[in-house]
Amino acid sequence: MSKQATILGAGLVGSLLSVYLAKRGYKVDIYERRPDMRKEKISAGRSINLALSDRGWRGLAGAGLEEEIRKVAIPMNARMVHNTEGTLSSQPYGMKGEAIYSVSRGGLNKTLMDLAEQQAGVKIYFNHRCEEVNLDSGELIFEDQTTKQLITKKSELIFGSDGAFSALRRSMQKLDRFDYSQTYIEHSYKELHIPPGEGGKFLMEKNALHIWPRKNFMLIALPNADGSFTCTLFFHTEGEESFATLKTENDVEVFFKKYFEDAIPMMPDYKKVFFANPTSSLPYIKCYPWTYKDKAALIGDAAHAVVPFFGQGMNCGFEDCRILGELMDENGDDWKTIFPLYQQSRKPNADAILELALNNFIEMRDLVADKKFLRKKQIEKMIANAFPEKFIPAYSMVSFTHIPYSEAQRIGKHRDEILEKLFLVENLEEKFSSDEIQKMIKDYL
Ligand SMILES: Cc1cc2nc3c(=O)[nH]c(=O)nc-3n(C[C@H](O)[C@H](O)[C@H](O)COP(=O)(O)OP(=O)(O)OC[C@H]3O[C@@H](n4cnc5c(N)ncnc54)[C@H](O)[C@@H]3O)c2cc1C
Repeated sequence: MSKQATILGAGLVGSLLSVYLAKRGYKVDIYERRPDMRKEKISAGRSINLALSDRGWRGLAGAGLEEEIRKVAIPMNARMVHNTEGTLSSQPYGMKGEAIYSVSRGGLNKTLMDLAEQQAGVKIYFNHRCEEVNLDSGELIFEDQTTKQLITKKSELIFGSDGAFSALRRSMQKLDRFDYSQTYIEHSYKELHIPPGEGGKFLMEKNALHIWPRKNFMLIALPNADGSFTCTLFFHTEGEESFATLKTENDVEVFFKKYFEDAIPMMPDYKKVFFANPTSSLPYIKCYPWTYKDKAALIGDAAHAVVPFFGQGMNCGFEDCRILGELMDENGDDWKTIFPLYQQSRKPNADAILELALNNFIEMRDLVADKKFLRKKQIEKMIANAFPEKFIPAYSMVSFTHIPYSEAQRIGKHRDEILEKLFLVENLEEKFSSDEIQKMIKDYL
């Protein structure tokens, strides 16, 4: 019997998942609401570029795509912090020169679609918006976005990688005992742009993720291959100083002069771009279960939309694909066994990365400029240098390893106790190799 699977959404996760399924003998059809982004210029939607890290690379490697993306990815080895006085300080991300990588969202999505169609034989139906899924019969109803006609299809195995506002999840929400919550954080975001300098020159350090931390809000910038930077302002939606109060170009100029003065000379059109680009909200979504019998499963943002402050949403979705691939390798096509294992393994990790990402917002916008935080980071490095096999810094566990997020979170919480203790030790550098301090660390480890 030929094996068939239907995927909703040809975004980053759906396109990658299709390759995992096709490689394991499935005939895969993807239905995508939007037109083909390789043929028509459509807005990139959320964020022009993304930070890709270890979990994302592993997900791509499982589909044989890692090398191709490495060629165009820009390594960012450090955070470059832009202080209010206009000074810069570089904070390396890793212990051994590790980097997170800036990649173009559209470029990555297009490459994944090409690979799915050309190498894996996947068929993508564009302009097909899924309206409803009948979970028991496997019937799917689509609206053709060009003719507005309704089309019905049938499939034995359905995956919803149709993002934060998933149609498959909407159908699952009608089931008894389906948990669901959607929460908007107080901040919204807006994309801005730093164009390339003469001859495609980068106007700031290329191999860094730039941050302007301003306590309750921040601006960040990631490099693009053409020498430009995509900037994102994360700012209060409403309130005294907020998107709601920046009403005129003059308001924006005053705000930028106050908080981001060093960026202004690099952003010639910032006041126009500010009003041309949308202000977008930031929801996070939790739900459970993620699967229905042996028939359907949610994956990527459809199962767990997180806030973007750890740069892990896509990475987590790619990790979902890798884990699902491993479960298929162990259990063949026994979806009755695979689906429970998949959701039990991934749900605690999705919950953990959400919490880590919410906390990382505080770290990025505020603590990277905080003396105690920086001191604790220094202490973390001292321990990691002395015990490299046993002590991996918290950021590194999330970004440079595939230790489960929930494990990284547990270790991180426990670790704060020892960092707090060592923080109180005066002249720690001098005392670090003393028996007393070494014993304290070893006891902890
Ligand atoms: C500002 C911002 C910055 C981010 N930065 C990072 C980062 O640096 N690193 C990182 O790892 N993650 C980042 N993320 C998160 C990342 O964008 C998402 O986790 C990722 O896009 C999820 O991929 P997905 O394929 O699950 O969903 P999506 O990318 O949302 O794709 C869903 C697809 O389904 C289609 N679709 C939707 N509804 C239907 C329907 N009814 N029928 C058919 N098709 C449908 C959509 O058109 C889309 O193509 C960021 C997010 C934001 C908002």
